[in-house]
Amino acid sequence: MSEHVKYLLSEDDIPRTWYNLAADLPDPAAPRHPGTGADITVDDLLAIMPEALARQELSREREIGIPDGVRDVYRQWRPSPLYRARRLERALDTPARIYYKYEGVSPSGSHKPNTAVAQAYYNRRAGITRLATETGAGQWGSSLALAGALFGLDVDVYMVRVSYEQKPYRRMLMETYGARCVPSPSPETAAGRAVLAADPDSPGSLGIAVSEAVEVAGADPGTSYAGGSVLNHVLLHQSVIGQEAIAQFALADDNPDVVIGCAGGGSNLGGLAFPFLGRKLRGGPEVRIIAAEPAACPTLTRGTRAYDFADATGLTPLLRMHTLGHGFVPPPLHAGGLRYHGIAPLVSAAVAAGLVEPVAVAQTDSFAAGVRFARAEGIVPAPESAHAVEVAVREASRCREEGVGRTILFGLSGHGHFDLGAYERHLAGALRDEPHDEAGVRAALTAVPGLAAATDLAGLADV
Ligand SMILES: *Cc1c(COP(=O)(O)O)cnc(C)c1O
Repeated sequence: MSEHVKYLLSEDDIPRTWYNLAADLPDPAAPRHPGTGADITVDDLLAIMPEALARQELSREREIGIPDGVRDVYRQWRPSPLYRARRLERALDTPARIYYKYEGVSPSGSHKPNTAVAQAYYNRRAGITRLATETGAGQWGSSLALAGALFGLDVDVYMVRVSYEQKPYRRMLMETYGARCVPSPSPETAAGRAVLAADPDSPGSLGIAVSEAVEVAGADPGTSYAGGSVLNHVLLHQSVIGQEAIAQFALADDNPDVVIGCAGGGSNLGGLAFPFLGRKLRGGPEVRIIAAEPAACPTLTRGTRAYDFADATGLTPLLRMHTLGHGFVPPPLHAGGLRYHGIAPLVSAAVAAGLVEPVAVAQTDSFAAGVRFARAEGIVPAPESAHAVEVAVREASRCREEGVGRTILFGLSGHGHFDLGAYERHLAGALRDEPHDEAGVRAALTAVPGLAAATDLAGLADV
């Protein structure tokens, strides 16, 4: 087994196709039309996205070619490095071999440009001039702003108000790239005005911000909606991460027993883990996959699997996914990118099939893991990524207790340079763990289509 600290590929090794897990899952659960309940068609999606992306959204083809115009942009930071966390291994005194795939090397500091670039490319080719989107912590908004700058598209970003206030630097980054950033809920849309009428102090949520962006895109033929996670085509674009990791493990002459990713909408987890999962489903090596989600927004561990809206007000197609209810407003969390009521249908289906194990992580534990990682490896993880670090640390500790040297891979989805205010609060001992809002979730689940008539929501694990 070779003993490098990082495993680098050349630009030629950037994958030429994206990998689509929907080809290998028996029942990937098709999205439904909110009005008719019928399966969504490409035509239904054309109101908010170009045909190429609508086709990818509904595709069950295994390999979809990556256009040269997208690979050319990927070249700037891809292939991203796979690191062996030797100093962390020593600090944990574990026999485990710990690796991490680092997506913080992109210009905006996370995995999100992998899909932002692809979406901007296809929209530009379709003659679209403006993209509308939501952002939580700001990583998606800044990644789409970057892609808009590269492809000459205007970008309007509806940013969850609590993050807009907590993270001014992300807004400044978006504006530097030329995007317009609006705190959400905003008075610019009917969806935003309705939320503000009910609660003028609403902290906002990703679900509300999605409603605003979808409303704007639906009203203007020159504007598309661009989603940062959850959707099938987003997970598809992120599959470059795991495909590269497979090639890098071949260089390392090793293979992960367990693959861990943090899960907000599920795109970095799916991007890293699905190529490994697909290999297993086609008869390849066994692999355990773990989704690390926040304990205060526990979509996979405490939600119900049902057809629900991806946004707060019911403008999007119905997605079959674990959900806390589209009207649920999760408590303010520093890992804003994980603060979402639903999860990618493909991740949800994989969890329901027992192929992905969900684990909930308390905010304070995630920051403690982030600090430990920074002191061992030098990289300050994004608060979202720190959830994956914490689960990797737990798995490595189990290896120590059991005296077994397993190979652990986790996704370090981004750096935390814009989140140092949250680290400061953690270091000052001022961070608290928000309890899971069980009553809020029960109330929100009664508004989920198909669950409305149910009386015993706790008994509905999979509907
Ligand atoms: C947005 C984001 C996440 C959460 O989104 P997923 O779709 O679940 O990947 C995680 N990590 C970072 C760094 C992010 O920017």
